[in-house]
Amino acid sequence: MDRFVYLDNSATTKVSERVFEAMVPYLTEHYGNPSSIYGIGREAHAAIDEAREKVAKAINAKSREIYFTGCGTESDNWAIKGAARHLAKKGKKHIITSVFEHHAVLHTCQSLEKEGFEVTYLTVDSEGYVSPSDVENAIREDTALVTIMYANNEIGTIQPIAEIGKICRDKKVLFHTDAVQAIGNVRIDVQAENIDMLSLSGHKIHAPKGVGALYVRQGVVIDNFMDGGAQENNKRGGTENLASIVGLGAAMEEAHNGLEEKAAKLTILRDKLIDNLLKIPHTRLNGGRENRLCTNVNISFEGIEGEGLLLLLDLNGIAGSSGSACTSGSLDPSHVLLAIGLEHGIAHGSLRLSLGRYNTEEDVDYALQVIPQVVERLRAMSPVWQEMKEQGLV
Ligand SMILES: *Cc1c(COP(=O)(O)O)cnc(C)c1O
Repeated sequence: MDRFVYLDNSATTKVSERVFEAMVPYLTEHYGNPSSIYGIGREAHAAIDEAREKVAKAINAKSREIYFTGCGTESDNWAIKGAARHLAKKGKKHIITSVFEHHAVLHTCQSLEKEGFEVTYLTVDSEGYVSPSDVENAIREDTALVTIMYANNEIGTIQPIAEIGKICRDKKVLFHTDAVQAIGNVRIDVQAENIDMLSLSGHKIHAPKGVGALYVRQGVVIDNFMDGGAQENNKRGGTENLASIVGLGAAMEEAHNGLEEKAAKLTILRDKLIDNLLKIPHTRLNGGRENRLCTNVNISFEGIEGEGLLLLLDLNGIAGSSGSACTSGSLDPSHVLLAIGLEHGIAHGSLRLSLGRYNTEEDVDYALQVIPQVVERLRAMSPVWQEMKEQGLV
């Protein structure tokens, strides 16, 4: 089977041609240390400044508000731990987040609980949205920080970020958002949306793995996460990942320039996938249809296991992901699917397909040809499905 259809762009993306071409000279010719004073060092420094400018522009920030990091996970850790530890000195030791954040946020919050912070984990509704009034009601005198993701990585729901930002600004509480999935798919304006800190990652937007950025609004003080040299305005030591930072700048520019056009194209492909997969009996769409990433499809198929589905899709040249065991090696279904109220059995049989810039209608048609057959085959072999049949449930 020669055909390969990549539908896992929320896991990672291919480095774009433009990004790759922008990077190469900084690996081969202009490889200087950005802190060095001779020519190739200064060139490297200038390239980082330019990348910082591009990242800032894409989210309507100032370039001195952008800090380069090693990944989205580091950005989340730094924003949350850095703000929490700084504000703890002023007696603020309460954090608000949601139950369905990425583990980069959830595990960071859990680690802060061990340091003595108190964390409120807001529930989400059955469609997968955080309620701004829940955020407002959870804010206390000693709240240091609210951290709510911009868009969920499993079910693609886009959160009411501007509303939450407004509430936090009015209540003088810091607001951080993990925008790793939203960047490049939703037009973001940190000023209009009252965002104080925002995390993003290169490899989700066609830059390489191992580079990210954190936006920190001017005037917001957070503790350093890594100590070392004077890089990143004395806030994050370590010789800069030059070529990847250049790549991230190019990727942000590329994502920003073609955003509406790309989103319009992907929305059509997404809806074709959703509408046709829902024609398979006993399926459900996870996450609301309104305010949903143009890239995200998440469907549960009753009576089957996501693992088996992924294996058979792989045999047919289709790469997707599932809301079950694979990430942790445990048998627990996804915390996101449980958060929106799915029963364990149904959560296990779910499939996430995530579209990207390079997907075509032929890709979608091929997936729609393969998936119904695979589901039928798995159901025919599934004891759970047989049992449901005997009970007259299906
Ligand atoms: C992928 C992802 C991250 C982690 O980013 P890395 O660069 O892989 O560390 C964090 N949050 C969300 C929502 C993600 O999708």
